[in-house]
Amino acid sequence: MVMDKLSNSLQDALKKLVGAGRIDERTVNDVVKDIQRALLQSDVNVKMVMQLSKSIKERALEEDVPQGMNPREHVIRIVYEELMKIVGEGTDIPLKPQKIMMIGLQGSGKTTTTSKLAHYFQRKGLKPAVICADTFRPGAYQQLKTLCESLNVPFYGEEGNPDAVGIVERGLAEIDKYDVKIIDTAGRHSLENDLIDEMERIHAISSPDYKLLVLDAGIGQQASEQAKAFNDSIGISGVVISKLDGTAKGGGAMSAVAATDSSIAFIGVGETPQDLEKFEADRFISRLLGMGDLRSLMEKAEESLSEDELDVESMMKGKFTLKDMYKQLEAMNKMGPMKQIMQMLPLGGMGMKVSDDAYEVTGQKMAQYKTLMDSMTEEEMINPRIIGSSRIKRISIGAGSNPETVRELLKYHKQMQNAMKGMRGGKFNMKKMMKKM
Ligand code: GDP
Repeated sequence: MVMDKLSNSLQDALKKLVGAGRIDERTVNDVVKDIQRALLQSDVNVKMVMQLSKSIKERALEEDVPQGMNPREHVIRIVYEELMKIVGEGTDIPLKPQKIMMIGLQGSGKTTTTSKLAHYFQRKGLKPAVICADTFRPGAYQQLKTLCESLNVPFYGEEGNPDAVGIVERGLAEIDKYDVKIIDTAGRHSLENDLIDEMERIHAISSPDYKLLVLDAGIGQQASEQAKAFNDSIGISGVVISKLDGTAKGGGAMSAVAATDSSIAFIGVGETPQDLEKFEADRFISRLLGMGDLRSLMEKAEESLSEDELDVESMMKGKFTLKDMYKQLEAMNKMGPMKQIMQMLPLGGMGMKVSDDAYEVTGQKMAQYKTLMDSMTEEEMINPRIIGSSRIKRISIGAGSNPETVRELLKYHKQMQNAMKGMRGGKFNMKKMMKKM
């Protein structure tokens, strides 16, 4: 998952508080030391880590544990709030007609992010169009054109013409009727004067509503310097952190945002056009601390389903038949890779841990399960409890499978059923916890 290592270390640190009857200095110091190490390893700015450690220690020991909250929840709440201070609120790019200018160094993921962003607006019902003003990197034009074509997004570019400013001017006139106009600009290998100069000229001619800086999550501490330079030149309205799926160092880019007057708008979590997530600090931190991210999951479900296919509310109801699960598996297929879906579930909070390999198997398993369910009767699908061992055998033969897999499916269904219940009123319910606060 995104920032897996950091997430695991933070969760391990907080485990030290399980069963703690009260908060004493030694325990807090111990936990804070682990949190410190985890954040530094993921390259969060040292000064920020020190500040956070100090605040957590002071607050955990000095503030009263709110009524109805156990000591562990009390500390988690403080850690949550202090982490929120580091990443900032998150920049909201509204769903309305606008011009967006993309900036960043070469290789940061700017072109990929441009297409992801177009796809994002498209999914939200707006009409995006893209201008390629990256006249510097060979191949940028073809790359963006191909991506846009595959998404059915109108594209403007002039292959071979080095005049980026002219291209933007003509492009804007050409795509005038579209809602969201996204301009992909050229990067350089490093921050060079001619890059800044070109940025400023494109900025002047296009007057973008938003200027999004794309930072590669893997660059660690260098991120601050980049963010500052771009911010000093044209001002940054939001940051996109790309490639968060492939690095343990994302903390550098995360904390670099403090060098700008902005905050994180999106995160890139893979190479396909779907792999862009709107950044919302509360969700992100909840996920990092293993509390799941149900809101993202619900939104994804709603985006990819028409109403009659699956009532998202009913997913959360305790009564969850095999038929519901079948529909859900189909829906999940549409929502995206299993791995992404699973990591949004509060499995950590339910005491379940899923290894990376398990996700891969899970995708295949889902297909097997669907075949098995195809050989079940309507009655069995509604009330799986009636499935006895002779039916298990028959179902497995019908699907060209084996009885163990049928049993596994039934067990999986039971787990899912419990998980659904857990989301509503489980032991570790974020909503409930927030309410208590
Ligand atoms: P540009 O030079 O800034 O336009 O960079 P590109 O958009 O061409 O991206 C550089 C490389 O990073 C490409 O191979 C992309 O597929 C890859 N990339 C971009 N965003 C992501 C991401 O969020 N996750 C992963 N894993 N790869 C990404």
